Amino acid sequence: MCGIVGYIGNNAVADVLLDGLKSLEYRGYDSAGIALNDNGGLDVFKAGGKLNNLFEVVSSNALKIKKPTSGIGHIRWATHGKATIQNAHPHLSNDGKLVLVHNGIIENYKELKAELEQEGFVFNSQTDTEVAVHVIDREYRKGCSLEQAVRQGVSLLSGAFAFCIMHKDEADCIIAVRKNAPLIIGLSDDENYIASDIPAVIGKVKKIIYLNDGEVAVVRKNNVEVTDLSGNLLNKKVEEIGFNPEVISKHGYKHFMLKEINEQPDILRKVLAQHIKASDLPVNLGQVKLKLDWQRIENISIIACGTSLHAAMVTKYVWENWLGLPVQIEAASEYIYRKNTTGKNSLVIGISQSGETADTITAVKQAKEKSAQVLIVTNREDSSIVRYADSVLPLEAGIEISVAATKSYSAQLLAMYWLGLYVAEQKKTLQPAELGKIKQEMLELPAKMEEVLSNAENIKSVADKLQAYKSVIYIARGSNQASALEGALKLKEISYINANGYAAGELKHGPIALLDENMPVIAVLAQGETYAKMLSNCEEVKARNAKLIAVTSVKDKHADNLFDDILRVPEIREDLSPLLLNIPLQLLAYYLADGLGREVDQPRNLAKSVTVE
Ligand code: GLU
Repeated sequence: MCGIVGYIGNNAVADVLLDGLKSLEYRGYDSAGIALNDNGGLDVFKAGGKLNNLFEVVSSNALKIKKPTSGIGHIRWATHGKATIQNAHPHLSNDGKLVLVHNGIIENYKELKAELEQEGFVFNSQTDTEVAVHVIDREYRKGCSLEQAVRQGVSLLSGAFAFCIMHKDEADCIIAVRKNAPLIIGLSDDENYIASDIPAVIGKVKKIIYLNDGEVAVVRKNNVEVTDLSGNLLNKKVEEIGFNPEVISKHGYKHFMLKEINEQPDILRKVLAQHIKASDLPVNLGQVKLKLDWQRIENISIIACGTSLHAAMVTKYVWENWLGLPVQIEAASEYIYRKNTTGKNSLVIGISQSGETADTITAVKQAKEKSAQVLIVTNREDSSIVRYADSVLPLEAGIEISVAATKSYSAQLLAMYWLGLYVAEQKKTLQPAELGKIKQEMLELPAKMEEVLSNAENIKSVADKLQAYKSVIYIARGSNQASALEGALKLKEISYINANGYAAGELKHGPIALLDENMPVIAVLAQGETYAKMLSNCEEVKARNAKLIAVTSVKDKHADNLFDDILRVPEIREDLSPLLLNIPLQLLAYYLADGLGREVDQPRNLAKSVTVE
């Protein structure tokens, strides 16, 4: 959450910062601001709301901007204090000389604020961030260097932070420091960058340094020096950027979400080519290095949040069936605050698209401390969560920009499918003939997904009809219970329509009371054990006059007249069906939100990677 950029070099600093913030916009859009250091003074420009507002503020002040040599910028996802200009970063010290931007939460800000106020510091915002400005300024005024003031100041802070800090009197450097929040340094000739994430520097630098917790970087135009909190010089690894600029372009699509939905067949193809080469060949680990002792594993816990938790739910259904091992799933935010039974014979799997999800990171860290084996499933192998991994399963979905997760969900499902098959093969929990059938159907998935995507117009026309409703219910059974939850989550995230997903059998235990002609129901149906029961649930819905839409992989003429609309996907076995049935649900949410004029890629109150607990 929140995007930070810093730049020191010869280019137009304000433009570089705005450009960097633009590519991080998915991280927060409550307010935006930049500070420019021009050797003679600090200029701070801020705007409430989206980044575009800051572009206007900066351009209307263009004449005021001299020739800054360095600058820092921020887009905010408010945690403490409303989304006002007053609370927008950067924040200044009382003498107007020290300025910083912050990502994270300072948990002990109340105590520090009381102490600082007693000492005469004046607070100009309601943010937790402002205490950091004053504690660092307090140290600086004692006469130490900016770098040392930062070290001493941050040692007083608890919680999570990534900071970029500048001082008017030290215009030749920017200080960056982090703890539990991501920060990278982008390296180039005669200029250097700081950013929360790689998109801000893609196409601008080829080399980066990942800053770790407790590291302080002094970033100058021609060099970067990284030390620990005690001031010891560190020899940091310089890494090549593995992404090309293409990944942050919309490629002609109206929204990143639509582009990312359409990328899914190719992602599947690419991953399958590595791991499932043919139905009669064993699952191939490819580049994945699994360092797990399966003999020791007695139980599996999958910890995740949001959409990743729905991928965990599908995994539970499928793996318990394929492997015969108990699989428990839990929201990371719950797992970390209770006495759980994780121990040395547990496998704990953390799923996080960004690898920066604070709750999931804390959960896997705890699991590691209890000697569990930890597997991380992430789209970002370069993220913070991999520190706690015995093994990493990369998703290979490419950078996901739209806040609503789509392609990363499909990649998560596919990863858990092929890994489940690999383990089933090793442990011989599935017969060879069954393994072959599953692999064959997996290989057919990309083409089937393309078929669903080619039906987008039909999905759009159903979405148009749903625009008038204020609430929607999704129902499903079996592994598609997760599809019902994910479909509902997608809809509420981007359209703000109240949507809830239920296990269809639960309908009669309460939610059925909500049904009438104003409450459309989307039933997700797959062939298999629960199909007949699903049809009964659909009859119950119909009997209450609710509009009923089927998203189904079943060809069943007898059932067709039950539904007001049918979105059919190609036939597929039940355990793999969540991968296919989710596609119309993604498109339905997309077209509905777009039709209502919502900001599809940047839904209100949300941000892409949730780096706070
Ligand atoms: N806690 C800080 C605030 O509310 C920083 C939030 C962020 O990471 O954007 O301003």
